[in-house]
Amino acid sequence: MDGERKSERFRRAISRQDFLRAALMLAASHLLRCVPAQAAEGMEVSEVAPGVFVHQGRYEVQSPQNRGDMANASFVVGSDAVAVIDTLGSAVTGRELRSAIRAVTDKPIRYVINTHMHPDHVFGNAAFKEDNPAFVGHFKLARGLATRADRYLAINKQMLGDDAFEGIEIILPTLAVETSLTLDLGGRTLVLETQQTAHTDNDLTITDTATGTLFLGDLLFSVHVPTLDGSIRGWLVLLDRLASKKAARVIPGHGPHAMELPEALEPEQRYLAAIAGDVRRLIKEGKTLEDATTTAGFSERDSWKLFEHYHVRNVTAAFAELEWE
Ligand SMILES: [Zn+2]
Repeated sequence: MDGERKSERFRRAISRQDFLRAALMLAASHLLRCVPAQAAEGMEVSEVAPGVFVHQGRYEVQSPQNRGDMANASFVVGSDAVAVIDTLGSAVTGRELRSAIRAVTDKPIRYVINTHMHPDHVFGNAAFKEDNPAFVGHFKLARGLATRADRYLAINKQMLGDDAFEGIEIILPTLAVETSLTLDLGGRTLVLETQQTAHTDNDLTITDTATGTLFLGDLLFSVHVPTLDGSIRGWLVLLDRLASKKAARVIPGHGPHAMELPEALEPEQRYLAAIAGDVRRLIKEGKTLEDATTTAGFSERDSWKLFEHYHVRNVTAAFAELEWE
């Protein structure tokens, strides 16, 4: 059975619970009819493997409407404790994720893991402060996030608007992963591994050994165009390595709830290789950055959502890196 069909089945099981809960709430108060559907029914999560839950974010940039819900966030439930993997892009959506966890289990939330520094993955951290978890990340995450904090806060305040920005704070990791770290949730362990500079310089992958689920964070984009904030050369090398990994399923940072190796990586490899190939050729021909931003990688234009939003930035970053080869 393919992963998508399997996760569809789990999704149906979950949404039946959601439906019952929503029906009970509606019966309790007609006032709830006025509340947006998302708030009344709780945040959608799918159980993609036993004890592994994924919320799928929207393929959008942050806005008052999506309130920073534009990346995937997951949680893994052990017999003793829960680990959260990424917390969405605002305290408001972080709290909804926390409610979704509480609808599944009352076990303590002991770890909040961030796959990397980007706001759509870390700005919900504040919602978990009351659980007093260890905040876990790549050893370069603290520096990366701290140096960009003011800029990230200013941009997100502007794009999210005051209501969705409420409660956001920068929470740096309290537990740094040097190369790898194993977390015991009771009956299952998570293996956290730092990766070489690729999407960013602080990408962390997580493997749930009980189910063979590999969380790739933004090392894997699907549907949503990849965004480059690290090294295009490093990312391409890393993707080759990841493609040979054995995993029952992978969870992208942006994309469906669950996917399979190696096919999941192929569109992203093709996209990054198109940019790298075109930019290298243009540099060799003595062309400028401006030439590159209007032509490089445009064969990929129709294959991705948000291409017009991020592609030129990706080419610009790739040009700056590759002109020094
Ligand atoms: Zn990212």
